[in-house]
Amino acid sequence: MSETQIPYKIYLSEDELPKAWYNLRADMKNKPAPLLHPGTLEPMTAGELEAVFCTELVRQELDNDTPFFEIPQEIRDFYKMYRPAPLVRAYCLEKALDTPAKIYYKFEGNNTSGSHKLNSAIAQAYYAKEQGLKGVTTETGAGQWGTALSMACGYLGLDCKVYMVKCSYDQKPFRREVMKVYGASVTPSPSETTNVGRKILAEFPGTTGSLGCAISEAVETAGAEPGYRYVLGSVLNQVMLHQSIIGLEAKAALDKYGVKPDIIIGCAGGGSNLGGLIAPFMGEKLRGEADYRFVAVEPVSCPSLTRGEYRYDFCDTGMVCPLAKMYTLGSSFIPSAGHAGGLRFHGMSPTLSQLYADGYMEAISVQQTSVFAAAEEFARVEGILPAPESSHAILAAVNEAKRCKETGEAKTILFGLTGTGYFDLLAYEKFHNGEMTDTVPTEEAIAQSLARLPKV
Ligand SMILES: *Cc1c(COP(=O)(O)O)cnc(C)c1O
Repeated sequence: MSETQIPYKIYLSEDELPKAWYNLRADMKNKPAPLLHPGTLEPMTAGELEAVFCTELVRQELDNDTPFFEIPQEIRDFYKMYRPAPLVRAYCLEKALDTPAKIYYKFEGNNTSGSHKLNSAIAQAYYAKEQGLKGVTTETGAGQWGTALSMACGYLGLDCKVYMVKCSYDQKPFRREVMKVYGASVTPSPSETTNVGRKILAEFPGTTGSLGCAISEAVETAGAEPGYRYVLGSVLNQVMLHQSIIGLEAKAALDKYGVKPDIIIGCAGGGSNLGGLIAPFMGEKLRGEADYRFVAVEPVSCPSLTRGEYRYDFCDTGMVCPLAKMYTLGSSFIPSAGHAGGLRFHGMSPTLSQLYADGYMEAISVQQTSVFAAAEEFARVEGILPAPESSHAILAAVNEAKRCKETGEAKTILFGLTGTGYFDLLAYEKFHNGEMTDTVPTEEAIAQSLARLPKV
């Protein structure tokens, strides 16, 4: 098929949409390591996990063997409101870069929450409703996950309690109000509503909170209130399963035109969008059917894959959650206050960690000033105002395309554009005012945090 026949946007028709999520773990020889109980350090049993998470989600979390999980009809109907997400051939960006490379991106920002997180939020809320629960609790930092979950719960008529890190609650009033539009209750964390919140407030009056503390409050509330469970927006196997919709759609769209990517790039925070985007392609690689280069892009200020260690660690600063074996900087690691680009989780999805350890994936880290420069370059030619997180992938894709210009190779690049940046304009403002700096954590800072990892 000739080049010009590939449209600027490749859409799938309703009957071409995926009907099942793909479980990449089914094709992995080395499975991701099991979650451990924070008290006993023994693998978490289904029963123990069900005290915190919904029953069906626990089943999905622990299943390393079933390759496909049917997407329930009600979730597929919800997906139809904002999916398929467009797969865009970045003709304008290619032209601006004067590169022989062919660049495609999968755009996940076409919904009110502004990111891919809604793909898993609706699934998790659906299973909570199916189980007859009253509601779910969660934490949110910058607010994307809380917004996505509020939308899903609002749609299904489920109560949604969000603990929002206090400084974000104060500094990001728009996100907070969007969550309220969808009927969620939003509590600044730490709060007086939980034991752990009261304890932290007594110890550190005036604290502006942290994600670790908000997680602890959300988990405590889910345990204390009958009919509630806790839900999490990244890192877990179940979240990667739901996010496989990104890769399945992207692959179906490319297959329609006989396009095979050489390089697949995604930003990596907890790993859910990258894991979802690469899933069906990585499956082919693991089964020996095709080969691709996979690149995870993380900030230099929070470099879990590139500078962390592959060890068991807590998923939260409060150390109440199960331990996961993952590339980690240590749960006490806190990125520099000057870091504005998101992707600030200290660890990485256990599934992606295992794949990286086994050499199936590459990882690079990039500086935030270059990330924002790439974001603007992209916005000006492709129109979309990208989220800072997504812009890590943009930068890496642009750099690959520039290398193609030097070597004359016409490689095909696919990257994940995870969301929009309308709520990140304070970070853009910093960039414009020349107030943005690049901070690289010192060896000592990382070593200090790693020294505090649990001994497993
Ligand atoms: C949350 C988020 C990310 C990072 O999360 P992952 O779990 O690593 O995908 C990336 N981009 C956007 C827009 C997000 O909201």
